[in-house]
Amino acid sequence: MKDLLKPITKQQENYLKKKIVEAGNTGDPAVLEKLFRCLKIDSVHVRRLSVSAIGKLAKFAKPEVAVGNLIPLLQDKHPQIRQYTIKALSAYGEFAKPALNDIKEIASSNIEKEYNIRDAEKAINVIKEACKVAEEKQVKICVKCGKKVEPDEFARSMKAFSRVYCDHCFDEVYIMRRNYDTKVELNKNIKTSDGTLVQSDGERIISDFLKHSDINYRYDERIRIIEGYAIRPDFYLPEFDIYIEYWGMDTIDYKIGMLKKRKLYQQQGKKLISVSFKDKGNLEKILLEKLSRYIKI
Ligand SMILES: [Zn+2]
Repeated sequence: MKDLLKPITKQQENYLKKKIVEAGNTGDPAVLEKLFRCLKIDSVHVRRLSVSAIGKLAKFAKPEVAVGNLIPLLQDKHPQIRQYTIKALSAYGEFAKPALNDIKEIASSNIEKEYNIRDAEKAINVIKEACKVAEEKQVKICVKCGKKVEPDEFARSMKAFSRVYCDHCFDEVYIMRRNYDTKVELNKNIKTSDGTLVQSDGERIISDFLKHSDINYRYDERIRIIEGYAIRPDFYLPEFDIYIEYWGMDTIDYKIGMLKKRKLYQQQGKKLISVSFKDKGNLEKILLEKLSRYIKI
């Protein structure tokens, strides 16, 4: 340790050893300030017992303060004190996160004692696991609408945007960004003749075409991101087990998304009819032609 340690007499040492052990068993946070001071005393026994007592008081201490006082002891010149410090820090779980780098250094050191390397590895796992649990417990809130976000929504949104959005806002933000990037008009709220809300003019034409042809369909309004690429919503025709997909844009991202989706569908043996904005002027005719490969229409 860089700080000069305070010297004490043998008699003082014996007195303190007893007091420190007692303090560790009190469950009283008021003793912690004294214990923190004992960490700076020039006695291996006093420091070791103090570290141990601070670990025992983990449930009662202000964790950030205790961890802050313990971290310098990871550099103590006595290996046993480093060992007790590693153990004490584990008791602080996620609050010991600031100590992780120092503990990792111990774990990967080639001059450190075997038992410290082993304990450091254990402590890293304990602290990381505690951080994970603490993170999962935290309620995640959509930054756009303030709604509580489910873990799967959270994962999706963080992956795509590194921000927390609920599924609803995810789609909106996605469409907004794409519109901005490509100047392609996409509107989430286009109403078809049967009242379905679709996302583009092309999708409205498809919906109306199916309705007028008396073909039942389901419309899936979720945009999905598969391996980073946008996957467009589907029309699904349950009577024929056919999917229809409308690609409203011509960006690379969409093209790759389209290829990925086609591949996925092929792998699963699904019937997929793909149409794009380029077909828009002729969409009904093209649909009729493509559909008639599968069904009588
Ligand atoms: Zn939201």
